[in-house]
Amino acid sequence: MDFELTEAQKMFREAIRDFAQREIAPLVEEAEKNASFPVHLFPKMGELGYLCAGYPEEYGGAGVGKIGDCICVEEISYHSVGISAGIMVQSGIATEAIFRRGSDEQKQHYLVPAIKGQKIGAFGLTEPNAGSDAAAIQTTAVRKNGKWVLNGTKTFITNGTFCDYVVTAAVTDKTKGTRGISLFIVDKDAPGFSRSRLHKFCARPSETAELTFEDCTIPEKNLIGEEGSGFRYVMETLTGGRISHASRSLGLARAAFDAALKYAQERVQFGQPIAKFQYNSFRLAQMAMEIEAARWLVFYAAWLYDQKKPHVKEAAMAKLFASQVAERVTTEALQLHGGYGLVEESAAQRYFRDCRMGTITEGTSEIQLLVISRELGIR
Ligand SMILES: Cc1cc2nc3c(=O)[nH]c(=O)nc-3n(C[C@H](O)[C@H](O)[C@H](O)COP(=O)(O)OP(=O)(O)OC[C@H]3O[C@@H](n4cnc5c(N)ncnc54)[C@H](O)[C@@H]3O)c2cc1C
Repeated sequence: MDFELTEAQKMFREAIRDFAQREIAPLVEEAEKNASFPVHLFPKMGELGYLCAGYPEEYGGAGVGKIGDCICVEEISYHSVGISAGIMVQSGIATEAIFRRGSDEQKQHYLVPAIKGQKIGAFGLTEPNAGSDAAAIQTTAVRKNGKWVLNGTKTFITNGTFCDYVVTAAVTDKTKGTRGISLFIVDKDAPGFSRSRLHKFCARPSETAELTFEDCTIPEKNLIGEEGSGFRYVMETLTGGRISHASRSLGLARAAFDAALKYAQERVQFGQPIAKFQYNSFRLAQMAMEIEAARWLVFYAAWLYDQKKPHVKEAAMAKLFASQVAERVTTEALQLHGGYGLVEESAAQRYFRDCRMGTITEGTSEIQLLVISRELGIR
């Protein structure tokens, strides 16, 4: 058993921590105020190997695997969940099916530029009538004159406002259930493709869109892998994505804890720092313990993933637990800030809002419980 990161992983963490402090932290205030994503980060991070870092070096990745990806996500989320949400989509769900199942041509045309940050990706699964029940999607893709013609609507699509392409799930054979779902790459310039912005109260820098396909026509070669295997590819992508998601909650919880500890040590009431009151010191101790427990679950799941060992249950547990810890820690952090936590300038109120992302996106907490129950053989 080895509970230490390797020397290379520690150096990677130091480098990305330093980058996040220097290059991301100064962008947060404006990105929050304008609810806009600092898109220049894509090429900047791509150049340094911090975008899509988990992918092998042959495609331009840093080859640091899921553990490295989690390190990146945690460090970016420490500063901004909204910014990490956009980066995570690029490093995960918008590229993974192309990496795993795409043709060489698709890899060269989409994956390699995405890893460099030269092309921005999105992932379109969710629809107005198909959220948790992803198998219920209604978007269709029909082969016509050597092309695919898509019709339907995708909603809540991260990076959807500015993406260059979207990996999209659509029904190719209604009679076959999940085996009738296929995955496609739709370019932003494809005829019949349009998008509109959705506004949310949390993770404001991450841009969320509704995408519409109206007789949207794409080349036949934009099918990913085999026709009818799209649902399986989506599940492959989402399983590993849960671990990255968990590290996002971990980074957020750590940020909220650090802010709470600092504030509690500085704020004096009744003649002493509020951290000295036993209730608050115990509260901070509890927060620290929960973050530590979440960390082990996240990195254990990432290690399983990198070792190519079964990780479905652990990935779901990590996502669920880390998001619950983030909820509790951000709530306690807000309370410790008293009234000052409620003012707009306070990071504590942002952490409190942003933690909502962890329990909803890429599979709600209830869906994680469903996955875990299935893995335990209960359902
Ligand atoms: C900010 C944001 C970004 C997103 N980004 C993307 C993206 O990039 N691409 C993409 O495809 N999707 C994206 N999503 C969609 C996201 O994955 C879905 O919102 C999520 O899967 C839940 O679907 P829903 O919102 O339709 O809720 P519903 O599925 O309608 O669920 C509503 C409630 O019912 C519960 N519920 C549903 N089924 C069950 C059940 N069987 N047992 C118990 N409880 C159940 C849910 O847990 C939830 O509490 C994003 C969402 C948000 C909010």
